[in-house]
Amino acid sequence: MRIARFTTGEDPMYGIVQEKDGQDMVYGITGDPLYTEIRPNGTIVPLEDVRLLAPVIPRSKVVCVGKNYAAHAAEMGDEVPEQALFFLKPNTAVVGPGDPVVLPTYSEEVSLEAELAVVMKRMAKDITPEQVADHVFGYTCANDLTARDAQRAENQWFRAKAFDTSCPIGPWIETDLDPASLAISSSVDGEVAQQGTTADMVRSVAELIAEISSVVTLLPGDLVLTGTPAGVRAVPAGATVDITIEGIGTLSNPIVRR
Ligand code: MN
Repeated sequence: MRIARFTTGEDPMYGIVQEKDGQDMVYGITGDPLYTEIRPNGTIVPLEDVRLLAPVIPRSKVVCVGKNYAAHAAEMGDEVPEQALFFLKPNTAVVGPGDPVVLPTYSEEVSLEAELAVVMKRMAKDITPEQVADHVFGYTCANDLTARDAQRAENQWFRAKAFDTSCPIGPWIETDLDPASLAISSSVDGEVAQQGTTADMVRSVAELIAEISSVVTLLPGDLVLTGTPAGVRAVPAGATVDITIEGIGTLSNPIVRR
């Protein structure tokens, strides 16, 4: 099931995206599917007539992992770390499909990073890898935009990773998906940048989330970003970045400088 958050100009609403007679439609539902049973509210709109919003606003945090694909670690001149390298993005970094990514004033080198994002369903603390699937709501595409110059200059990645609009997600949450082996790619103005598979993750989704839950409590709606494959590159103002994951869809965002 594809769960989107959208607006037709009125208050935002959640909906199920489903094909009907060859056309993608959005069926509005009552409430927030993270907390309430999914019930149609009577709204039915063609997908092309709605504006999709970030499918979830994380209740507390976005937890990310660095260097979880060996080929990406290598292109950064690094080994895969023995201890998983986790960091945070604040929920204020999250934007939705089509929203502009605003390059921070202090950076001349902001890079794209296509990532599979996991949306948490249940509170998770000290869970085992085997328990992870029961705590996951679904999956969406994410872009872990990174100010590479700030990342090189500083040990903490606050300026590099946490800036506003640095975490586009969408276009919706796919709830029925096995994350083990999905094609994942990015492109800039249609030119392919990254082309990988989630099968190349050093640590699996289940291993990552279990370990993260040994550090922090994951809350419903929190996001876990699972690392990026090789092929990252800087994105200039004026470009459009697409992140595509098999079984989910494509997240597209323009890059701007203000
Ligand atoms: Mn990343």
